[in-house]
Amino acid sequence: MAFFKKRALFGGRIPPACEYCAHSRPSPEPDTFYCERRGVVPGHYHCRAYCYDPLRRVPKRQPRLPAFTPEDFKL
Ligand code: SF4
Repeated sequence: MAFFKKRALFGGRIPPACEYCAHSRPSPEPDTFYCERRGVVPGHYHCRAYCYDPLRRVPKRQPRLPAFTPEDFKL
């Protein structure tokens, strides 16, 4: 009988938050969510029942790279 270790998506680098938990739904109030277990919760909160739903997370945009000139690469 083989046992497989459960691996976290994205190597577990996503910080837990109610904003993208599988148990939450959006509420009309800004930055608050309806939780099936805890009621109204803020987006940054999390609890032991957190379950990551990758389809609900909106990745942050990458910062713009600074503009370099050819003089920046000269010794
Ligand atoms: S309180 Fe817990 S179960 Fe509810 S949405 Fe947040 S992490 Fe998920």
